[in-house]
Amino acid sequence: ARLANQIAAGEVVERPASVVKELVENSLDAAATRIEIDIDKGGTKLIRIRDNGGGIAREELTLALSRHATSKVSTLEDLEQILSLGFRGEALASISSVSRLVLTSRPAEQAEAWQAMTEGRDMEVKIQPASHPVGTTVEVSDLFFNTPARRKFLRTEKTEFGHIDEVIRRIALSRFDLNLSLRHNGKPVRQYRAGTLPSQQDKRLAAVCGPAFIASALRLDSEHHGLRLWGWLAPPEAARAQPDLQYTYVNGRMMRDKLLNHAVRQAYGDRLPADGHGAFVLYLELDAREVDVNVHPAKHEVRFHQARLVHDFIYQVLAQALEQPLA
Ligand code: ADP
Ligand code: MG
Repeated sequence: ARLANQIAAGEVVERPASVVKELVENSLDAAATRIEIDIDKGGTKLIRIRDNGGGIAREELTLALSRHATSKVSTLEDLEQILSLGFRGEALASISSVSRLVLTSRPAEQAEAWQAMTEGRDMEVKIQPASHPVGTTVEVSDLFFNTPARRKFLRTEKTEFGHIDEVIRRIALSRFDLNLSLRHNGKPVRQYRAGTLPSQQDKRLAAVCGPAFIASALRLDSEHHGLRLWGWLAPPEAARAQPDLQYTYVNGRMMRDKLLNHAVRQAYGDRLPADGHGAFVLYLELDAREVDVNVHPAKHEVRFHQARLVHDFIYQVLAQALEQPLA
């Protein structure tokens, strides 16, 4: 079982940042409103994610660590309209096969917390009582301790932490109603406070993308035939100074999708140099039945049922915004 999980881990767990992404997404799926992330040594020594979400019942703990166990999709109909971030039931099993993992959790209806840890080659799960408020903590220690080849590919502590920080920025922009904190080697690094008012959104945007972006960005929000596009878009001159600022979300899910990028690129047109990217934070919202997210294990790509319609909608909204003279 361990080998199969380690093979699957190759797809899901590339580096500490991918572990952070999977675990934070689990917390979000569990409806957490507060997530605390503690990292030691770029995540190679320790990744600890603590949330105040729904928790996992004692009798489900072992199951949560096994492969293809997901509590999120039970029918084909569910699979056709996925609303949760996870659905493959692979992440915890994969991560625990290449690390030492401790899962501690308490659902509201359970008086005490329980803790599960995986041990040994056959991934036997041991469980014991623990002390924990309602919610879940996942601790991942010594990532890749048993896969030296993978461990060799890890970069410096600083680089690995940089990737983690980037994951947290993307998450911070995906959910303004979330309290999110990130610490490295015991020191607070990021503190994003929940707030969904426009002024609070602007504040978070400034914290994540820098004050220069928010100062120049055009704010947009358009709806047409059940499609909604909102967010921020830097005019071409400002975009040039922000080469790494491209965030796109589809129904709250971070995406790096070709069709989206193409539509944005086309909207900027020849206002940008040939290798320019534009700078933007964009949210596309549409009926979950109109998209397939089950395309790639890392889940960065989607398939739109009405690709042309989506593409042209994005293009039109952005092109129109860019044509407006600056105030
Ligand atoms: P998936 O997210 O694809 O369902 P995972 O391996 O990431 O698969 O998680 C397995 C299961 O463990 C989830 O379906 C969920 O029931 C449970 N789980 C994992 N993390 C949490 C969490 N932070 N809070 C509540 N439940 C969790
Ligand atoms: Mg998951």
